[in-house]
Amino acid sequence: MRGLMMDEPLTLAAILERANRYFPRGEVVSRRPDGTLSRIKYAALAKRVRRLAQALQQAGLKRGDRVATLMWNHAAHVEAYFAAPLSGGVVHPLNLRLHPDEIAYIAGHAGDRFLIVDDVLWPVFERFRDKVRFERVWVVPFGGMPTPPGAEIYETLLAQSSEDYEFPECDENDAAGMFFTSGTTGQPKGVVYSHRSLVLHSMAECMTDSFGLSQNDTALLLAPMFHVNGWGLPYTCPMAGTKLVLSGGGCGPEELLDLMEQEGVTFACGVPTIWLGVLDALRKNPGGWNFRGPVRVLIGGAAPPESLIRGLDRFGLRIMHAWGMTETSPLATAGRLKAHMHDWNDDRKYEVRCKQGYAVPLIRLRLMRPEGEVPWDGATPGELEVRGPWIAASYYNAPEAANRWSPDGWFRTGDVATIDAEGYVKIVDRAKDMIKSGGEWISSVDLENALMAHPAVREAAVIAVPDAKWQERPLAVIVPRDGASVAPAELEKFLGARFAKWQIPDGFVFATEIPRTSVGKFLKSQLREQYRDWHKQPESTKKD
Ligand code: AMP
Repeated sequence: MRGLMMDEPLTLAAILERANRYFPRGEVVSRRPDGTLSRIKYAALAKRVRRLAQALQQAGLKRGDRVATLMWNHAAHVEAYFAAPLSGGVVHPLNLRLHPDEIAYIAGHAGDRFLIVDDVLWPVFERFRDKVRFERVWVVPFGGMPTPPGAEIYETLLAQSSEDYEFPECDENDAAGMFFTSGTTGQPKGVVYSHRSLVLHSMAECMTDSFGLSQNDTALLLAPMFHVNGWGLPYTCPMAGTKLVLSGGGCGPEELLDLMEQEGVTFACGVPTIWLGVLDALRKNPGGWNFRGPVRVLIGGAAPPESLIRGLDRFGLRIMHAWGMTETSPLATAGRLKAHMHDWNDDRKYEVRCKQGYAVPLIRLRLMRPEGEVPWDGATPGELEVRGPWIAASYYNAPEAANRWSPDGWFRTGDVATIDAEGYVKIVDRAKDMIKSGGEWISSVDLENALMAHPAVREAAVIAVPDAKWQERPLAVIVPRDGASVAPAELEKFLGARFAKWQIPDGFVFATEIPRTSVGKFLKSQLREQYRDWHKQPESTKKD
């Protein structure tokens, strides 16, 4: 017997329509490059989405055509997020921090037909425009700059179309958004989300034990919208009626705290680096900002050190930990304490909060090794594999990467993790960042977290360096806090309290910053290259 329920397609039109009908006064606030704010309500935004969708059709967009964006975080980018898929096309945000050749490669591989670009990012476009072939390019007056000669104006495009435009019917499995992985090895790969996957993903983000977003919230998105689907917020906030605050091209920690205070932010998300800066600013000026209540700070992209979680707690900013990747839309696990853990002592609770959490509904996880599945004992590491309705089933036109999926259809994440009996995942390392010393594995992440708990250490990255006897040994690259200094012997002693002797790095080198990828993760491949011959150097030159 079949169920007798309606087969309503899950499409982004339903999300936009809900925002328009039930939360017309809900706002999207955008911080312009000069620091001023602009505001638009969901009802007005929905009208502009209709205009843009029709304009794209009039420009000749056909089903499945890609509309690229080269934009910061602001309301017009949300318009593109909706209008491209709702006109039958696919929105494809380009990562503007990549090398121009790489952006050109990605736009070419994706087959992007149109481009919407911020006026302030026109110089970025100029660096690769001769290597790409967009049929039309529209410039958004985000920074109030004069329109470059020959460019078409976004607002003129919108003025020529109708706010009553009816979106064409679409299938829930049609492509809606395309994002490329920010891999540090090999060519970036295209991940293609469908309407259905995005709708289900937003429902999961709204759930109380994941982001818990509601129409009572004000959410600040600090992760760039050109990376991993803007962490889903451009769709989840309109679905929930949440006010959405967008910080443009980003700003310093003090300006960020001002924005949070002024707009009454209750939920914010971004990578740990941003929050390290915020914590420094709060420590320098402890009474400087008054939040209306506790702020939920969602951290993903990299693991927040325990010292950061503890530090922000003192200022009413409560970190929630989540894990995901471009291929997982991104939300896959969320780190809430379970009911029976609330009575635990603080140390035990922090230990759980440092883990990446357990799978959100409809997502399944397993840990694999060549010999088979690994038990969930919180100790045995394996490669994390994942499946679910918003997990990529393949990359766009990249048959060479088919081995990222197991023969039985699970996605191999490349993350090495443990899972405990409660189901909490702990990411031990990226597979390629693990350090193998004399046949034993050492987790760089564990060492980094421990080092960042030292009062003189701002940031620490631990990498493997080749070693004649042990094959690889750990080396720590340390960025001290402003004005602080610390001797390697002191750091060795500090780690000695928690780690076996063989796990302690052979050396500690000091740097002013750690190189990062375009989305703020440690660029360990560069560090490995830089310090490849560290063990061969004479002792006297090893210090830095
Ligand atoms: P991307 O596709 O650029 O978002 O990168 C995804 C990768 O970021 C994952 O495979 C992890 O290695 C890393 N990552 C994401 N979230 C976390 C987290 N909470 N803790 C540790 N690593 C994370």
